[in-house]
Amino acid sequence: MRLVLFGPPGAGKGTQAKYLATHYTLAHLSTGDMFRAAIKEGTPVGKEAKSYMDAGKLVPDSVVCGIAGEGIENAGLNQFILDGFPRTIPQAEWLDDFLTRHNADDYVVVSLKVDVELIVERLSNRRMNKETGEIYHLVYNPPPADLPTQVLLHRSDDQPEAIRERLAVYEADTAPLEAYFRGKNRLKEVDGVGEIEEIFERIKAVLD
Ligand code: AMP
Repeated sequence: MRLVLFGPPGAGKGTQAKYLATHYTLAHLSTGDMFRAAIKEGTPVGKEAKSYMDAGKLVPDSVVCGIAGEGIENAGLNQFILDGFPRTIPQAEWLDDFLTRHNADDYVVVSLKVDVELIVERLSNRRMNKETGEIYHLVYNPPPADLPTQVLLHRSDDQPEAIRERLAVYEADTAPLEAYFRGKNRLKEVDGVGEIEEIFERIKAVLD
């Protein structure tokens, strides 16, 4: 199975991708996680990505396509879930071309639908375990009480100013991709509001 998980920031892509990766035995390819790892390691890609990410802006397409392509190839071009890629029409065109060249262009796009007000609420309450990547919501999915606070990260791009910028970028650059995928008959829309398990069941229902 080749899967693209699509939706605005805070739609729950990362959380659902982890469940789906386990359930269908897929490599979980998150370009955001790849950049965060590159920043931690201090690689040239990490250095380039950091300023864009902190400002809530998109990393340039050429850089993103490079790391996404590497991830897909490392996953063997099959059995992967893309989380947060593609995010622009040129990235989607690049992906189509890349997969077609590798005889691997039968992918499905699951679009998680969530209202903007809920996204802001989710992102400002989101915390991440720096060591494991585990994602929490301070109210609905709180971190374990015994987890040291210094392990919990409030992402710099989850601060109010960056959230507003990311949503504006989403509307301008990423939202038009829905029509692109629909036009290619790849799009499956799923209601992204509700309990994590419930949303996971909805996604499975459209995939199975
Ligand atoms: P995420 O963890 O998916 O929310 O991504 C965090 C940040 O990484 C984004 O706000 C962008 O700055 C950058 N990023 C991740 N994926 C992409 C992409 N496909 N295109 C451009 N920038 C990206």
